[in-house]
Amino acid sequence: MLKTSKIFVAGHKGMVGSGLVRRLQKAGCENILTADRRTLDLLDQKAVADFFRREKPEYVIDAAAKVGGIKANDDFSADFLYENLTIQNNIIYNSWKTGVKKLLFLGSSCIYPRDCAQPIKEEYLLTGQLEKTNAGYALAKIAGIMLCQLYRKQYGCDFISAMPTNLYGTNDNYHPEHSHVIPGLIRRFHEAKINKAPEVVCWGSGSPRREFLHVDDLADACYFLLQNYSAAEQLNIGAGTDLTIKELAERIAKVVGFSGVILWDKTKPDGTPRKLLDVGKLSALGWKYKIDLETGLRQTYQDFLSNKNLRK
Ligand code: GDP
Repeated sequence: MLKTSKIFVAGHKGMVGSGLVRRLQKAGCENILTADRRTLDLLDQKAVADFFRREKPEYVIDAAAKVGGIKANDDFSADFLYENLTIQNNIIYNSWKTGVKKLLFLGSSCIYPRDCAQPIKEEYLLTGQLEKTNAGYALAKIAGIMLCQLYRKQYGCDFISAMPTNLYGTNDNYHPEHSHVIPGLIRRFHEAKINKAPEVVCWGSGSPRREFLHVDDLADACYFLLQNYSAAEQLNIGAGTDLTIKELAERIAKVVGFSGVILWDKTKPDGTPRKLLDVGKLSALGWKYKIDLETGLRQTYQDFLSNKNLRK
């Protein structure tokens, strides 16, 4: 059914959106709808309403969001809250308005309380304070989950939400300051190797723990959920294992071939101490990740070397 349906992937130029398009194409989906920034400004209420009325998508995947690493989230927190609320309101509201059959809203594991028990179960949502460095982004995403749940409750819409753990992979943003940790460190270690620098400075203490999932696995999980999940509760998507940032940095250094010293700048924030998702519900539905971190890091370094991303 998905193969012939009109599926709108919002945010198809980003890492997640482009991964979704690749996955849908691989599955033989023939009617994938995308719109770039020049043809559709997702912040523009009227433009989005017109787009939905004209195009009448049957399925919608909302992978459009303002995203970034710990520094970008902290520096541009008002933009993260405002833009994400506006984009998702426009997409979710118009999906209801035009009778979209199914909508998948994507968030992130930062929606959960900063200090909640680990691994993080879906039901821990809204049980404590958020991590301050990404509170704007997290609050927007929590509102999106709630909006999907309430359209389901009030109007019976099949709107679902999925919360991926920290993502990385093909088409990531390698900005030196505003990226997430994996692309940020791939770039820094690579440049140190090329410049024969003796040391690389990473942020924070290196002791926070993070879980990582390759974007191709995330896209595969989304494709699976479109066919196998229909409930109000946001579903966690992850690999089920984590490591310290220090261990991660050592692995990236090895993959990139940097053999110098790794230093830690403790004036930079650590963020949440640990963010490991409980993926029991997703596993029970029958989905599991395939790309281990080692393989994923090697693939991502090749993606970085394929240059187009260096310009970001
Ligand atoms: P977070 O999960 O929202 O904190 O997202 P990030 O991927 O931005 O950061 C994860 C962890 O990596 C945090 O503890 C950061 O302090 C740490 N980290 C170390 N070096 C870097 C770096 O160069 N860039 C980023 N973004 N984080 C780094």
